[in-house]
Amino acid sequence: MIIRCWGARGSIPVSGRDYFRYGGDTTCVEIRTKDDEIIVIDAGTGIRRLGNRLVSEGRFEVSVLFTHSHWDHVIGFPFFKPLYRPEARIAVHSCPLSQGSMERLLAETMRPPHFPVPFEQVQARVDYRGICLDSIAIGGVKVSSIALSHTNPGLGYRFEEDGKSFVFLTDNELSHVHSGGCGFRDYQAFARDADLLFHDAEYTGSEYEAKRGWGHSRFEDALDLARSAGVGGLGLFHHNQDRSDDQLDAMLGRCRELAPDLDCFAVGQDWERRL
Ligand SMILES: [Zn+2]
Ligand SMILES: [Zn+2]
Repeated sequence: MIIRCWGARGSIPVSGRDYFRYGGDTTCVEIRTKDDEIIVIDAGTGIRRLGNRLVSEGRFEVSVLFTHSHWDHVIGFPFFKPLYRPEARIAVHSCPLSQGSMERLLAETMRPPHFPVPFEQVQARVDYRGICLDSIAIGGVKVSSIALSHTNPGLGYRFEEDGKSFVFLTDNELSHVHSGGCGFRDYQAFARDADLLFHDAEYTGSEYEAKRGWGHSRFEDALDLARSAGVGGLGLFHHNQDRSDDQLDAMLGRCRELAPDLDCFAVGQDWERRL
């Protein structure tokens, strides 16, 4: 599978000279499977550029998985151009038990007085499907899920194809168990021996104490998880909106000092890797 990031920023999109290298769009990750199926995780602002690319490629069948419904993970949905193409087929997977109906939540991103185009003008066929702490298959990829430890409920995902695995855990606080969430050992088991892990690394250790309980992790905890779970690579994800490129590089340098044996990097938009 090929993993491609379209947005790795947390909370709110950012722009300007401080963010040129890692980018400012919010969460959107694309997976292209061995069979060239397209799986999208979250519809943050990064999904706009992904949609433009899919239209240019003439690709109109996608599966979209949602981690949760905070604005930074859904706000790009109305700007996903395939939505306005009648030939498009979009399968939306989410957990209605933890988030409420995703159909209703997405419709809210396109409702007056906040948005000019009503949800009813979506021309694509959008099918809503459940994934709730179980496993499903999308093409040849097995997708498993786990409850996030976050301020509102959500899901993390593990993708497996031909013995390769990618684990995506964002908006996940490893040092605090939120209602409905799991503990460190559960995430350790979920990420065990993955080839690649993307994990929330919103805070530094010194920033975290004032933000404990806000639903995000310090990068040191993400590093502990990656090392103890034996993953092949760790991508720091959900960058704080005020974290400049230089500050991210400093965080990355610290990760490499603490874990010189681990392939640690900061995920930026347009980052891509084949597993
Ligand atoms: Zn977020
Ligand atoms: Zn969130």
